[in-house]
Amino acid sequence: MTRTAIVTGAARGIGAATARRLAADGHTVAVLDLDEAQCGDTVAAITDAGGRAIAVGADVADAEAVSGAVARIAAELGTPTILVNNAGIIRDNLLFRMTEDDWDSVLSVHLRGAFLMSRAVQAHQVSQNWGRIVNLSSTSALGNRGQANYAAAKAGMQGFTKTLAIELGRYNVTVNAIAPGFIVTDMTKATAERLGVGFDEFVAFNAEQIPVGRAGHPDDIAAAASFFCSEAAGFVSGQVLYVAGGPRA
Ligand code: NAP
Repeated sequence: MTRTAIVTGAARGIGAATARRLAADGHTVAVLDLDEAQCGDTVAAITDAGGRAIAVGADVADAEAVSGAVARIAAELGTPTILVNNAGIIRDNLLFRMTEDDWDSVLSVHLRGAFLMSRAVQAHQVSQNWGRIVNLSSTSALGNRGQANYAAAKAGMQGFTKTLAIELGRYNVTVNAIAPGFIVTDMTKATAERLGVGFDEFVAFNAEQIPVGRAGHPDDIAAAASFFCSEAAGFVSGQVLYVAGGPRA
């Protein structure tokens, strides 16, 4: 069955791969990111492959922007019943160097963003008595040097997921989290730059620590999101799936 899906942070990386995958699964997709113009490549990839998508510019941490975006999506694409809360940023620093802005901005995009998007979309899901929410957590939720803000946000995503699963289950809405390990995207490129390491070297170093012997790619995460969003996954809710090439990281 064709549903309307919203993927946040879908201009690139994991979000773009997830948007393409959900479109390939037969859904119409709202490709949402900070800057609408940046969503063009993802939308073109979907439409070129015969799918249907629109670009939507919105800051997920801005309540007004979120309600406007979700209303526009409902009007232009149809009632949104699938939501992937993927938008994210990093502001890594050791605790003693971490500024209040580093802390607030990371917590705001991940947690406030997922809260605002989920609150806006659940009204539509409840009206249809069907829905899927997938939240992007991270192996960093288990602790990662230099990421006190990000780890707190990603652990928070897990508690948020489990609570929504309890609250929304009676409306046939499942809520699950994916906790990726090391995935090759601009985000991990930025980490390599901060550490002063070449990206290829950084990827190779990380791959050595991963049981399956390779780094992850956005499509690895998109495949897990596709499962959680499927009709067949209706009895799977409140789960955190580590997609990390091994048990944790
Ligand atoms: P990415 O390549 O940096 O892409 C993130 C996207 O989110 C960007 O397009 C960014 O837009 C957008 N975004 C940032 N703030 C936003 C906001 N306030 N409102 C709307 N969109 C916003 O990141 P990624 O590696 O694909 O990561 C995607 C998700 O997976 C994130 O939640 C991340 O924490 C999580 N994750 C990633 C990894 C990994 O190894 N890459 C591992 C674990 C978890 P701009 O370009 O305009 O900033």
